[in-house]
This record gives sequence, structure tokens and C-alpha cells, in this order.
Amino acid sequence: MKIVVTGGAGFIGSHLADALIVQGHEVVVLDDLSNGKTKFVAGLEGNPRFRFVHGSILDRPLVKQLLAECQVVYHLAAVLGVKNTVENPLKVIEGNIDGTRNILEVAWENRIKVVFASTSEIYGKNDALPFTELSDRVLGAPHIHRWCYATAKALDEHMCFAYADKGLPITIVRFFNTYGSRQTSTQYGGVVPKFIVAALTGQDITVYGDGEQTRCFTFIDDAVGGLLPCMDPAFDKHVFNIGTTYRTTINELALQIKRLTGSTSSIVHLPYEKAYGEGYEDMQNRLPDISKAGAMLGYVPRVDIEQGLAKTIAWYRGMNPGDKNE
Ligand code: UDP
Repeated sequence: MKIVVTGGAGFIGSHLADALIVQGHEVVVLDDLSNGKTKFVAGLEGNPRFRFVHGSILDRPLVKQLLAECQVVYHLAAVLGVKNTVENPLKVIEGNIDGTRNILEVAWENRIKVVFASTSEIYGKNDALPFTELSDRVLGAPHIHRWCYATAKALDEHMCFAYADKGLPITIVRFFNTYGSRQTSTQYGGVVPKFIVAALTGQDITVYGDGEQTRCFTFIDDAVGGLLPCMDPAFDKHVFNIGTTYRTTINELALQIKRLTGSTSSIVHLPYEKAYGEGYEDMQNRLPDISKAGAMLGYVPRVDIEQGLAKTIAWYRGMNPGDKNE
């Protein structure tokens, strides 16, 4: 199969590209390098089944050219990060809506399969746990920028379903706090890389709020394991939660990372408004029901948080944490 991966030099995308090449596919990575790094796909350079294209999903002629040659597009390129969402709402809204619209329109012209990377953020403040794929989204008021990423992704999903109704083969995955090597966006959030870099460089590990909020952290290899089968037509018009069901508080995460790194960093707490500005709303708990992915995709997360963090820390140690080129 010839497959385009948008955002393929990024965190999840580059791991997916590696896995697709191992499976024997031809892979074209399209990435604007706003967050991705060429070094994450450097290991694939020279492989005749791999091509890297530096460009944007907003570049319609380029998207047309690339999608015309392939059978599947994994659309992972996105403008994300909680801090980015709060500080640059227009960039987040336009990047996610215009970019996805481009991909869907061109995929429709070519009638090719789309696997769309969505997010557990779209469940928002819904407190009826666990979230099934049919759970409501409960997003906050529009003047609170925190919700613009979730809203844009939810609208993207609406677009996907509208195209699916017209007959475009589409599968949606919703990721739950994926972490692992190559997740380097410490600038815009991602609590795991932020805590690891702080721990390894002796800076304070800063927990926002009281730290009792929970997340289900999902190791990258498990996330890719959930993504890979989605290109199969058997899963057209389906949505899958891809996560783990093991809940960790942010306080526990901080302690665990401090212990695993042997760090002398202090763990400090910061009120949300000091971290993200007045009126910020967090999601207190986020827990997926992954039984649908288990039953249909054969998805079983295998890496527990202790092992996953140890592997991630080892990667960070090897790449000089705190380096501006991370
Ligand atoms: N968080 C934190 N310190 C940080 C970054 C994040 O305590 O430096 C908290 C954040 O408030 C949230 C959780 O960690 O409760 C996960 O944040 P992240 O930005 O990774 O993703 P989210 O799950 O909020 O989308």
C-alpha cells in the first residue's frame, strides 16, 4: 500500500511511519516541521519505500499531488498543545479546521481511505466515566480558549462523518495522553516530557492545580498498535478510543518520574490561573472505555506506566534534555 502520513515527522507520526515501513508499505511523510523533526525520520532516509516531503497540509496543490498517488492517508498533522491552545487560539482553530478540510476534500476527489487522529480532549468536561465512543462531549464556553482545540477537533470529526456518509472510507481514533520517545513539545505542554526534562535538568517539577486530576497515560508503541489496523476497510465509519484504563494522578506521575530519574528536583504546585491565565478549566478525570478497540481491532495496551516512563526517560537521557534542538 502507498500511504501518506501527515505530521509524519512528529511524535506519533514518525513512530507510525517506522511501523508502516516495517510492514512493507510505501510511506510518504508530509510535515511542515513546525513541531516534527527530520531527525525522527532520519532512520528511514535511503529506504526506497520512504519519502519525506517538507510542506504544509494547507498547501492544497501539494496535498493534491501527494494524495493522488496513494491509497491511504493517515492524517496526524495538527496544531496542538494546551498552552498553544490558550495562547494562539486562531492558529489552533485554523490549522486544525482548514488543514483537515483540505485533506478530506482531496481524499474525496481521489476516493482514498482516511485515518483521522482525533483526541480524548473532545469529551471535554464530561464526568460520566469511562468515555465510550458514543459519550457526549461537554465543552466549555467559547470565550475560554482552552476549548478551541477540542472544538476544532470535534468539528473535524463532524466533517469526517459527513464525508463518511457520502461514501468516503474513514476511521477515527481518539488518543488518550500518549507519551514516549520523540514527544518533545515541552514548550506547549505534554506533562510527561515536561516533568522528565525538569527532573533530568534539576528544575522544579511543576504540578498544576492540586495534582489530584487523573489521566490514563498511553505508551507510544501501544498507540501505534491501535492505529495500524485502522486502514483496513473493515473499520470504515468507526471511531476507536486508543488509551489505557490505568489512571494516574498528576501528583503520582511527578513522584514516579522523580523516583525513576533519581532526580533531586522539588515538586511544586502552581494554581491553574498562574500556569494558563484566568478562567482556565482543566478536565479533572479522563478514562477511556477501550472495549470496542479491543473487540474489533484486537487492541490491547501492553506497556504499563512504569515500563513506559523508564523507556521514555532512557530516550531523553540519550538526547541531552534541555537542548534547544530537542
Ligand atoms: N500539567 C501539570 N504540569 C505541567 C503540564 C501539565 O501539572 O507542567 C497537568 C495539566 O494541568 C493536566 C495534566 O497535567 O491536568 C495533563 O496535561 P497535558 O498538557 O499533558 O494534557 P491534557 O491531558 O491536559 O490535554
